Amino acid sequence: MKLFPVFDVPEIREGDDLADIISERVDLRPDDVVCVASTVVSKAEGRLFDLADFPAGPRARELAGRLSELTGDEKDPRFAQAVLEESVDLVMEEPFLLTETRFGHIGVNAGIDRSNVPDHDLLLLPKRPSESAERIRAGIDAERVIVTDTCGRPFRHGQRGVAIGWAGMAPARDWRGEPDRDGRELGVTVESVVDELAAAANLLQGEGADGTPIVVVRDFEWGDHGESDAHFRDVEGDFVRQALRNWRYDP
Ligand code: GDP
Ligand code: MN
Ligand code: MN
Repeated sequence: MKLFPVFDVPEIREGDDLADIISERVDLRPDDVVCVASTVVSKAEGRLFDLADFPAGPRARELAGRLSELTGDEKDPRFAQAVLEESVDLVMEEPFLLTETRFGHIGVNAGIDRSNVPDHDLLLLPKRPSESAERIRAGIDAERVIVTDTCGRPFRHGQRGVAIGWAGMAPARDWRGEPDRDGRELGVTVESVVDELAAAANLLQGEGADGTPIVVVRDFEWGDHGESDAHFRDVEGDFVRQALRNWRYDP
């Protein structure tokens, strides 16, 4: 398996057709997996906004006020308002906002970016990243597309790429029931292939001014394994998330 970036991708603007932009620059094979940074999907879908678009309500003012107090950094209540409007659930309120987006992804500040955002203050995540992936997939020769984002993670320092949307493939490979080298049956392993490919792609996408938001994974083989739709956990089965329910930041 190998990965390579698509070169000469222009600055993406609202209305741009990413499938065309990809097809014009690379000869894809049907079994390629095309990984696209959510940043450019959002730009193409016009998800650029300004703080002025989000007049703060009482809840946003309260959250921003509390965060400013806790962190010593002045937080803009309009930013908190944007986060609230992008979210269906607030998982943590302090010392930062960790929220669930409408499509099930949990991220700091609902994944709203303030870097690589020309002429605007905010770049919101695509509304439905798996639908975005499907639209791109329909216009290119490759059969699999992953929309990625760079995210932090609990328990470890450092950020890495994750899949927030995908099309043409199951998100996970199911090893349950398969034997290990000693013939013991695997009981729990469902491997998040889309996250693994997203993390690898993120290595080549870069985080700053690299300009390589699209990465092709070539010759990745699924192998003789089952498929699983498991990706975002439901709150009912997410005990870490449940444990955060009554948690308070105590510096
Ligand atoms: P995210 O991980 O999806 O939030 O995106 P990043 O902000 O980390 O950007 C990923 C890569 O895409 C970086 O190398 C950026 O320089 C690049 N990038 C962002 N926007 C554009 C764009 O409009 N055109 C091009 N060519 N590259 C971009
Ligand atoms: Mn991002
Ligand atoms: Mn990134």
